[in-house]
Amino acid sequence: MKNAISVDLEDWFCAYNLEIPIEVWNKQELRIVSNTRRILEILMKFNTKATFFVLGWIAERVPALIHEIEEQGHEIATHGYSHTLLTDMSPQSFESDLEKALQVTKACINQPIIGFRAPSFTITDKTLWALDILPKHGIKYDSSIFPTSMHPDYGIPNAPLSIHQRGRLIEVPLSCVEVLGRRIPCGGGGYFRVFPYSLTKSLMRKSNRLGRPVIFYFHPWEIDPGQPRMQLPRLKAFRHYFNLNKTESRLTQLLTDFEFTTIKEVIGL
Ligand SMILES: [Zn+2]
Repeated sequence: MKNAISVDLEDWFCAYNLEIPIEVWNKQELRIVSNTRRILEILMKFNTKATFFVLGWIAERVPALIHEIEEQGHEIATHGYSHTLLTDMSPQSFESDLEKALQVTKACINQPIIGFRAPSFTITDKTLWALDILPKHGIKYDSSIFPTSMHPDYGIPNAPLSIHQRGRLIEVPLSCVEVLGRRIPCGGGGYFRVFPYSLTKSLMRKSNRLGRPVIFYFHPWEIDPGQPRMQLPRLKAFRHYFNLNKTESRLTQLLTDFEFTTIKEVIGL
């Protein structure tokens, strides 16, 4: 079964847990170009195409990088402009953030943008209004709903686990597998760094046996143990920094054990 692999294209200082305001992002050390090139090399080695959810701010800062990703045959989708959580935005501010993201990202590429992923997966029960705004801007699928109750900031605990039609959009939820009645995330990010690889692998195999392709995601900063270290509360530090030195080798193992492609191809668009 072909699974989907996706990259949320943002730099280390864009991550929500770090709480660095967008006004000072320009002053931070830019590490996304070298990290993304390493990712592109790995994907090329495994002859795998991925979906890149590009943050508009990044497209504006390093447009040539977005062009380079497209030239290598990957799908470009959008992650909004400013990485503001949807739970902190009004429908109006969300729509202008999305418009700005699409404008600056489309300027770097030739393909249409049909996919969206909310910052920190913040399409929740409180922000479902966003799903009505997306199709007005050419978005055909959303990959923002985490159907779990495992995280305090996001998740719709009873949302469907499979890809499904939701109004005018196709919803591509992040992967979870039920174990003893609990929905355990197995599609990447912090879970991929915290769980032993053998656990991720067996949960992913189970998802595939149930007929569900895995929707996997990671960030360029997750393969970068050399990134600047911030003083953070213990739980946030754990979420951001744990096992950064293991992600790249695990990713190589993952691409050896499973077959991946873009989200667009998995859903047949
Ligand atoms: Zn993000």
